[in-house]
Amino acid sequence: MTKILTVLGARPQFIKASAVSRAIIGVGGMQEIVVHTGQHFDANMSEVFFSELAMATPQYNLGIHGGRHGAMTGQMLAGIEEILLKEEPQAVLVYGDTNSTLAGALAAAKLHIPVVHVEAGLRSFNMRMPEEINRILTDRISTWLFTPTDVAAQHLRNEGANDDRIIPVGDVMYDVALHFGARVKTTGGMLDRLGVRPGDYILATVHRAENTDDPVRLGAIVSALTHASRTVPVIWPLHPRTRAVLQRGRLLDGVADSGVRLIDPVGYLEMVELEKHAALIATDSGGVQKEAYFYQVPCVTLRDETEWVELVESGWNRLAPPKDAELLSVAIQEALGTRGRAVSLYGKGDAADKIASRLAADIR
Ligand code: UDP
Repeated sequence: MTKILTVLGARPQFIKASAVSRAIIGVGGMQEIVVHTGQHFDANMSEVFFSELAMATPQYNLGIHGGRHGAMTGQMLAGIEEILLKEEPQAVLVYGDTNSTLAGALAAAKLHIPVVHVEAGLRSFNMRMPEEINRILTDRISTWLFTPTDVAAQHLRNEGANDDRIIPVGDVMYDVALHFGARVKTTGGMLDRLGVRPGDYILATVHRAENTDDPVRLGAIVSALTHASRTVPVIWPLHPRTRAVLQRGRLLDGVADSGVRLIDPVGYLEMVELEKHAALIATDSGGVQKEAYFYQVPCVTLRDETEWVELVESGWNRLAPPKDAELLSVAIQEALGTRGRAVSLYGKGDAADKIASRLAADIR
């Protein structure tokens, strides 16, 4: 039996793992041990995904969260190393670009355990993003680089990765969207509860440090969303970090009397429901940008750049750096009612199966 040890810790990783873990078990001859670092720990940022997406509870939970990047990553590194020494897996699998990703990859590489990186090759070329540092380092020490897009594969080639390490499979989030998202066909009551009509609200999410840690940018986002909410309601499920910053900066007061509805983070199925029926999505999330396209909803990305450039090129997404509230308001107005070109960007929805088959074939 081949033993794969997966390290995860953040919301988008639980969602991606729902497809890949199922495929790993399904392929036969493989066993998966899951380590949750604890990076996301609130019930609505973690537990809800395991129950909704029918995932087994992780065998380990390190309970590490909060604090600065160095301390958090260092504690994870030490905790994961101990588990690796005990479990002796044949490979360690990590997703995306969080501190949990880097800690898992680094702990494994130092013990000469080969690393599997799912969602390899993404680049923003902005080294001030903690995510960019995590992805570049993880890719460098990974044996299997499973890429979601052609652009990601090309980035890896440009950086000198050998072609035999680069394995284009498509995007596992598309697999999840097809598997679970397709079940959310009509409103499950979320829209009624929020008092909004299908096609008549903007959905917003904000969690990137470059926005939450910069009062000018966060202020511009709040003003633009408040402005937009005069004509179309805005539903904003607040990431815990964003809520804390808004509270500290007293930015919530201005929102209170507007058409912006601040709600707690929602589960994946509720999120899909909100995405599918939105008139527009404004976000700085990587996953949500893609989901907007999956559900054919125009998207405004609240960032200076994106890793998912093909969404911008095909007209489904537009970049709106949140430096100025007025420019952002214009971008939102302009995007409402638009559509991109008919394109197929993220594979066939079988990325997880391809990953599992390849690992089963390569590891004995
Ligand atoms: N998501 C969710 N509930 C929310 C907000 C987001 O289930 O309240 C889901 C969303 O549908 C997507 C994923 O979380 O699948 C994106 O995660 P996040 O924005 O935290 O991270 P990123 O994709 O930017 O790495």
